[in-house]
Amino acid sequence: MGKILAFLKKDLWKIIIILSLTFIQAMANLFLPSFMSDIVNLGIPNGDTAYILEIGGFMLVIAFGGIICQIFARFMSSKVSAGFSMDLRNTVFTKVESFSLTEFDKFSTASLITRCTNDITQIQHFLDMTLRMAITAPMMAIGGIIMAIRYGQSLSLILIVSCTAIIAVMAVNFSITVPKFKMMQTNVDKLNLITRENLSGIRVIRAFNAQATQDKKFDKANQDLTRLHLIIGRIMAALQPLTMLIMNITTVIVLWLGSRLVQSYTIQVGDLMAFIQYVMQIMFSFQMLSMTFMIIPRAMVSVKRINEILDTDPVIKDNNEEDIKTPDNTGKVEFRNVTFYYPNAIEPALKNISFVSKPGQVTAIIGSTGSGKSTLVNLIPRLYDVSEGEVLVDDVNIKNFSQHELRNRIGYVPQKNMLFAGDIESNIVFDREVIESEITESAEISQAMEFINEKEQGFQHPIAQAGSNVSGGQKQRLAIARALINSPKIYIFDDSFSSLDFKTESKLRNALEPKVKNSTVILVTQRVSTIMDADQIIVLDSGNIVGVGTHKYLMKNSSVYYEIASSQLTKEELS
Ligand code: ADP
Ligand code: MG
Repeated sequence: MGKILAFLKKDLWKIIIILSLTFIQAMANLFLPSFMSDIVNLGIPNGDTAYILEIGGFMLVIAFGGIICQIFARFMSSKVSAGFSMDLRNTVFTKVESFSLTEFDKFSTASLITRCTNDITQIQHFLDMTLRMAITAPMMAIGGIIMAIRYGQSLSLILIVSCTAIIAVMAVNFSITVPKFKMMQTNVDKLNLITRENLSGIRVIRAFNAQATQDKKFDKANQDLTRLHLIIGRIMAALQPLTMLIMNITTVIVLWLGSRLVQSYTIQVGDLMAFIQYVMQIMFSFQMLSMTFMIIPRAMVSVKRINEILDTDPVIKDNNEEDIKTPDNTGKVEFRNVTFYYPNAIEPALKNISFVSKPGQVTAIIGSTGSGKSTLVNLIPRLYDVSEGEVLVDDVNIKNFSQHELRNRIGYVPQKNMLFAGDIESNIVFDREVIESEITESAEISQAMEFINEKEQGFQHPIAQAGSNVSGGQKQRLAIARALINSPKIYIFDDSFSSLDFKTESKLRNALEPKVKNSTVILVTQRVSTIMDADQIIVLDSGNIVGVGTHKYLMKNSSVYYEIASSQLTKEELS
């Protein structure tokens, strides 16, 4: 809570003004009925317009002042709470951006989205409400009770009974709706998850005619959420008239008993009228209080969910300044006895991996799907941290690099590459400082020039969200061009040629050769033909290295490699 409250510090004086304004507003509300009672009690002397104008004018000023205060308080509290939620959203989003993949796996993307949006809105709503009610409601409730007793002491029993009735109604309301409000955020998460998955997977869903099942999933989540809303709505719908009924019955009884008291001169007419007004004010403020109390639990759930984000320290973060090293950039990559478990996994995805990859060499990694190839290369840019052992770049443990420096040294083409809304150029350049010629060079090497030239706007050709308007092969080529920018010393290609036809692949590899000649190249692939002349080939099987060597060597000495090769190559190629 403290962390979140700290966001309000800079608005402290505004909050004080809001509270003061609402205080004045409550005072105005509290004193108006007592003036009215005076007028009624004393009566207006015949034709004394000056008196009417004086008191009437005074009451008008008070009422008007109260309303002005209320308007300003509302205006300012909206502004404060909106500003607060903007700051909080910024902080939460920045924090989420600092998360490593481990945290993304832990929270799930859908939940992170809900937390950045809906949860913060809940807190904003609560803050807005609290700022406006925190002073007004209790003041009007307590002040109202004091004033009511002052004007109608003989009627206080009615006050006690009707207040008890209202509180009872609120209690029922509370006990039913609060648990539902608490459940709501998890349901919003679920709905978000399904919506996201459905919309991003729309092509597959269409192709397999899976709309019906997907609809059902969505429907279920939607209905769950709707049910909660309905239950809450129904309770409110039932209880609101009930509150009105209690208020009206109270008025009737007060009038009925009061008129007798007036007859017997126990109470004055003006006091009776003031009493009724105070009773109304008391009940109204009870209602306001209960509304605020009702959203507290939901807001608290949101606060907790936001705090979880703010309190999560990313497992991957930079070392202390003095431990950070910046060795010469040669490109050497080394794995020493690396074992890696995914969070919550029982079996390691990689077991005791050791190898050295030197500049000027191509290290190929081959193995069946799920053998751990992508996992292995993901460890080099520190997308995950190793569980045991160490990964070294330029002879320094990558944990002792700044993440920025480490990733700067690596040109990484992930298996699931990603384009972003923008244009071709922005996707290649990707926030780095580059010169024009570098962009064209990268695009030429990656064979992307071919289709860029076909586009009317060339490099300015727009790319749709997630790159949905380019083909898989085109996407892959742009992702390769992106990795070539800045000529890093380490290249990682994770199955990066898989969507290219053989002709384009061989053209690309020929163009790539001089570019990466002095760099370390780590190449994950399923195609034996791609790596026949690699300097070293690492054969992975279920997270273990089961063979290291050249193609020739492995053909003789590794049964796993031989199996993979023989399934792809012709007899002549094998021999
Ligand atoms: P490859 O790239 O060789 O096809 P991966 O490295 O992607 O294989 O996956 C290796 C193993 O790790 C697989 O068994 C897979 O189920 C598991 N795995 C991959 N990603 C994750 C993840 N984010 N969380 C948990 N397990 C994962
Ligand atoms: Mg893979």
